[in-house]
Amino acid sequence: MIRGNDPILLTPGPLTTSLETKQAMLRDWGSWDASFNAITASIRQDLVAIVNGEGTHTCVPLQGSGTFSVEAALGTLLPRDARVLVPDNGAYCQRIARILKYLGRAHVPMELPEDRAPTAAMLEEAFARDPSITHVAQVHCETGTGILNPLAEIAAACQRHGKGLIVDAMSSFGALDIDVSRTGIDAVIAASGKCIEGVPGMGFVIARQSLLEASQGRSHSLAMDLHDQWVYMQKTTQWRFTPPTHVVAAFRAALDQFEAEGGVAARGARYRRNCETLVDGMVALGLRPFLPRAVQAPVIVTFHAPPDPAYAFKPFYEKVKARGYILYPGKLTRVETFRVGCIGAIDANEMRNVVSAVAETLKEMGVKALAPAKDAAYA
Ligand SMILES: *Cc1c(COP(=O)(O)O)cnc(C)c1O
Repeated sequence: MIRGNDPILLTPGPLTTSLETKQAMLRDWGSWDASFNAITASIRQDLVAIVNGEGTHTCVPLQGSGTFSVEAALGTLLPRDARVLVPDNGAYCQRIARILKYLGRAHVPMELPEDRAPTAAMLEEAFARDPSITHVAQVHCETGTGILNPLAEIAAACQRHGKGLIVDAMSSFGALDIDVSRTGIDAVIAASGKCIEGVPGMGFVIARQSLLEASQGRSHSLAMDLHDQWVYMQKTTQWRFTPPTHVVAAFRAALDQFEAEGGVAARGARYRRNCETLVDGMVALGLRPFLPRAVQAPVIVTFHAPPDPAYAFKPFYEKVKARGYILYPGKLTRVETFRVGCIGAIDANEMRNVVSAVAETLKEMGVKALAPAKDAAYA
């Protein structure tokens, strides 16, 4: 699909991009140039359409990595007296909680084991316990483990109880269904270098326009003020401050390929095939995924590290890399794991090849015990 001599990134952003996307960066654009600003406008329009937000929601892009857009969305869209429930089953949920602390917004934690997804009933219980909760900040796919949180169910619960809902859909946007028209989702946050398969460098927030309009003067920070960015863009068609021009051009090319592939349905289907091929292959080797299949998103898979004393992540990583594949360390504190991404301009063949690379590497390292005993599972 791509293939140069570079290793394939099996990481959840930056990820492997197509040659076409890379080639779109071979031109310098002026930020005042009308044709560049037309690209920005078309991207904004297409992103709103992906989540069915035409007429109600608007897209505000922002320079920086995905976290910048999460912080900007929370700082701009949440009133200063908001009280935010954060269902927490992983590292990116915890990042939201940290951002809220920085921003001085009250937050109510809802701690879950990293292999358990929140349910509507859990949220309703939290609302009943603390009726002063005004919003929920929910991570859709928690990339720390790869767990899929049930967004539609959570959105319905928020709508029933009149709570605002801000969604970090960074690693799901473009691959899994998100529909802001049927649900009460106020804002969806994602970035260029994830499932749309662009390069990293810009995030975007698809926000309910009425909320954005009401958010003037709320942001603690000029650079992070989404309202200001939006107003300026509406008025001038330009980005406020220097845009990441090459990133934007590459993102346009990536969106064209996304649409040509068949949008969310086709992209999600390719990632599901990637994920199934990977999991089947690794399980056949004797490795064990951390999550049960029922809650596994087709984005990134966490595997238990082999309990064999001959295994260590660093040499494992280096040897798999020498065979052409970049893996990702685990992000769990209580059990040793490693992660393999299923997203990017890759197909099931790559997943079969990475399984072979892992098999050869483990053999070379002399690793024999591959799966932890069942009862050594996550405490
Ligand atoms: C990638 C990602 C982010 C943003 O991370 P950055 O390193 O700032 O790009 C946020 N949330 C989730 C769920 C992610 O996967």
